[in-house]
Amino acid sequence: MDVKALRRFILAILACLLGAGLLCYGIAVRQGPDAQLLKASTGLSWYRIAAVFDPEQAELSCTQTVEYRNNHDVNFDKLYFHLYPNAFRDEKRVPFFAEEKLKAYPNGFSPGWIDIHQLMVNGKPVKFNIGGYSSDILTIILDTPLSPSQKAIINMAYTVKLPNSLGRFGYGQHTFNVTNWYPIVCVYDHTGWNTDPYYPVGDPFYSDVANYQVEIKAPSSYTIAATGKAIEVKDEEGYKVWNFKALAVRDFAWVASRDFEVLSRSVDGIMVYSYFLPGNRDGGEKALECAAAAIEIFNSRFGRYPYSHLAVVQSDFFVGGMEYPCLVMIDKNLYNPEHQWLEYVTVHETAHQWWYAVVGNDQIDEAWLDEALTEYSTVLYYENRYGEDVGKQVYDQVIANGKCSYLQNYYFQGIRHTIDQPVYKFTDWLTYDLVVYGKGASLFNELRQAVGHQKFYDILQRYYEDNKFKNATAAQLMKACEEITGKSWNDFFRKRLKSLNW
Ligand SMILES: [Zn+2]
Repeated sequence: MDVKALRRFILAILACLLGAGLLCYGIAVRQGPDAQLLKASTGLSWYRIAAVFDPEQAELSCTQTVEYRNNHDVNFDKLYFHLYPNAFRDEKRVPFFAEEKLKAYPNGFSPGWIDIHQLMVNGKPVKFNIGGYSSDILTIILDTPLSPSQKAIINMAYTVKLPNSLGRFGYGQHTFNVTNWYPIVCVYDHTGWNTDPYYPVGDPFYSDVANYQVEIKAPSSYTIAATGKAIEVKDEEGYKVWNFKALAVRDFAWVASRDFEVLSRSVDGIMVYSYFLPGNRDGGEKALECAAAAIEIFNSRFGRYPYSHLAVVQSDFFVGGMEYPCLVMIDKNLYNPEHQWLEYVTVHETAHQWWYAVVGNDQIDEAWLDEALTEYSTVLYYENRYGEDVGKQVYDQVIANGKCSYLQNYYFQGIRHTIDQPVYKFTDWLTYDLVVYGKGASLFNELRQAVGHQKFYDILQRYYEDNKFKNATAAQLMKACEEITGKSWNDFFRKRLKSLNW
């Protein structure tokens, strides 16, 4: 995500620095999507969802079959699912800070939820309960424990209500933002089951990669941008039935609109689509061009994007940008090509495809791991595309100015945070932004200065290659540093991650 009240102000100067430096680039079609994707999809869980979308009622009627494979070496007697839409049910518990509520609900509070109507495991009804902070955790009690490598087939029928809200989940004037919308299995890791609620700060999601087949029946007038590739679109009496497939992705999001216009281009054999609203063609072209340039740069610097497409979607959305696998949402108000944030936010969200979508991590307990690296990757884009001077200017404007603000808060207000704090320790976006994005990005800059330019990219390539389609931790990043440089960087990381100062 990319919420930057402060840096919106700081970067106001940036547009003029970049205006003259635009480079042309060719569209190179070198090879098809990574063959590793097919290999990576083997042995993963499957989600098969059929949804009927009723825009009049802002509702989805869904059936879902999860073929869940226990890829751990313990027996499970329970399975846990997130029910994120329930975070939007109770006005007092919605995942927004008080100061954001007016932006999130410009027409007043509007509830969203998910109601489970039916649930079976392996064809039989089972006991289940719904609990958690916002009734957002579904616990299924299994009749027989699920052993390692065994599968359970979980069938559900449910209704999802979308709120009239301009956050990630909901709808506005033009778009229905259907994200974190279906029951998704919680991650089991060395800490056990991760059943965190939908916190109001950060991107409080943590998931495993899985395979998806998602059928969406929507009125014919709607166009759908999605995580999956549209395998087939059938006409059916006033409706279109969209059939999407996505292998080895860690979530499935979609955005629907009657108003979308679409531009596309191919880069390195990857199709980039820009969905934009009427009157925003220039912004749509700019978003497409920046996402394509970012893919080309990150492909060569970090490792190849394995999926066949990326959708960049102009959305009714007040929080800047948000990443989902193969789909990024961008605030519709940024779609003026002169807007200094359109490029920055588009590139930031595109970088998340490497750090979040392909290499995942616990975005609650180690939020910095993808966010700080994504922020620094955005600086690397400017440097690679426009030259070292522009890269340095962006770094100074974004990160160094953030340091000044952090130190002012540190010395005068006693606000002190370490980079490695979990998201729920932060009580406002501005501090989260300064610490996790800014202070976090400065760690990567220091690392680069310490190891040298080439070795820094070697480290990122190693980290990417070794952890793609998995959830990494800081330990994996340190391991990549050690393997490339031949010495331990644990003290380097520990000192910076645990420092209250900048
Ligand atoms: Zn981000």
